[in-house]
Amino acid sequence: MDIDETPVLDNHLHLDPVNGRNTEAAAEFADHGGTHLLVLNKPSWNLRETADDESIFRECFQLTVDAVADATDVLDGRAWPVLGVHPALISRLVEDGYTAEEARDIMQAGLDVAAEFVADGPALAIKSGRPHYEVDDAVWEASNAVMRHAFDLAGEVGCAVQLHTEGGEDFTEVATWAEAEGLPPEQVVKHYSGGRLAGPIKSVLADKDELEVAVEEADPFLMETDYIDDPDRPGAVLGPKTVPRRVRWMLEEGWEEAVRTAHVETPARVYGIDTEATLDR
Ligand SMILES: [Zn+2]
Repeated sequence: MDIDETPVLDNHLHLDPVNGRNTEAAAEFADHGGTHLLVLNKPSWNLRETADDESIFRECFQLTVDAVADATDVLDGRAWPVLGVHPALISRLVEDGYTAEEARDIMQAGLDVAAEFVADGPALAIKSGRPHYEVDDAVWEASNAVMRHAFDLAGEVGCAVQLHTEGGEDFTEVATWAEAEGLPPEQVVKHYSGGRLAGPIKSVLADKDELEVAVEEADPFLMETDYIDDPDRPGAVLGPKTVPRRVRWMLEEGWEEAVRTAHVETPARVYGIDTEATLDR
């Protein structure tokens, strides 16, 4: 199989319509054979300012929805927005003088707005999670409550949740929380995952070693770059052409079934999207 016979989805990439390359990054992805993108809003403090009320979240989400429309124009497939609240916001709010509980409420209100964008149509899924760095007990507890709120909302509106969390391979506890809030664990995706993961669906960083593990594991998985579209940190992350490049490599290795898993079957199962029907080359 050749790369132009399959959809190629980057499951987690950021576009920054304020400071970044924005549509140009999506065009670079397309030039290398990429067809579909899930575009995550950048943290509020990158796009505008530290969000401490609903209106700033709303503004950041709308900017991302508009960026996605422009990205779709340069893709043979299409892009979808995934909107939510970056888990590190809690630390910024606490630094600014809010209690952990107040920060939790602000972040949950932001997630309410994200769920509204899903229910009203433009967004595909919600993003939440908890800090990937050491925090005190109050912040940890509040962060878990924020994440559970995201599960609750997603269960209500019927969408998936992408998680930003600490590293690790066992997230079965988090998957049971999702289930308790009414969200099937198959609709919980751990972004920036390695090749092995228990609990949620893994979105594997497009690193050859980790992809090889994912192929061996033979579970559902997605692929991503976590490209951040930050002109000040050009080499900080994988570039937008990385997922198409890795798909080419996987096809050379003869892993056609795994390519189908990551770019057709898992996206359909997790998000209900059809990357074949939405592709017109
Ligand atoms: Zn990200």
